[in-house]
Amino acid sequence: MSLSDQELERYARHIVLPQVGGAGQRKLKDASVAVVGAGGIGSAVIPALAGAGIGRLTIIDSDTVEIANLHRQPLFAEADAAKPKAQLAAGFISRLNRFVEADPMQERIGHENASRLLTGHDLAIDGSDNFATRLAVSDACVGLGIPLVSAAAVQFQGQVGLFRSKPCYRCFVGDAFDADDCDNCAELGVLGALTATVGSFAALLAINTIVGIGDDEARKVHIFDGETLDWRAIRIPADPGCRACGSA
Ligand SMILES: [Zn+2]
Repeated sequence: MSLSDQELERYARHIVLPQVGGAGQRKLKDASVAVVGAGGIGSAVIPALAGAGIGRLTIIDSDTVEIANLHRQPLFAEADAAKPKAQLAAGFISRLNRFVEADPMQERIGHENASRLLTGHDLAIDGSDNFATRLAVSDACVGLGIPLVSAAAVQFQGQVGLFRSKPCYRCFVGDAFDADDCDNCAELGVLGALTATVGSFAALLAINTIVGIGDDEARKVHIFDGETLDWRAIRIPADPGCRACGSA
């Protein structure tokens, strides 16, 4: 797809970057990205991807806005309380960038519907708040062959990784958490600025992956400590017995 004069003007600060250029900006426009969770991480991911000119953004979230979550969800305002987050996020995207198609899906994603919801996307970003959802999203991405940026934050700890089918997120965390659908943030707390940091990192990782900037970050998980402010990266080996991506 070519870029109109209005788009060339809008994305001029991207296009001037040698790593992006007109070709990279067209890749962003051609991309269809599913964002799972319009929470704290989604509040950073969604504006970054909409501003960057991703052609189509699907926002999957079944929840409504809660005042106790606004410390980490600047996508929403107090007057939005009890309104559906997916629709509000889609409205935000349309107001920010009319060149982005925003598709809200107010559904709780799980094993039974993840493949249906994620089909047709070039990349998924998971910023959901529990292991059961993250594993369901990962398994579906492995099955569909969709690259997955998985991001999580709790208390002062954050992690972000790119998974290309093998090793997958399930290789990283194992099978123990499939039944764990509790809201970690409600129980343990999380710093709003931490989810913003992790979400911005996830958005950058997604943009670099779509455009092809830098080295392939798959097989690595980046871990951030919000107290010491240190990032470190760990290598993830594939689990040969993995239920999702293994040969077993
Ligand atoms: Zn695996």
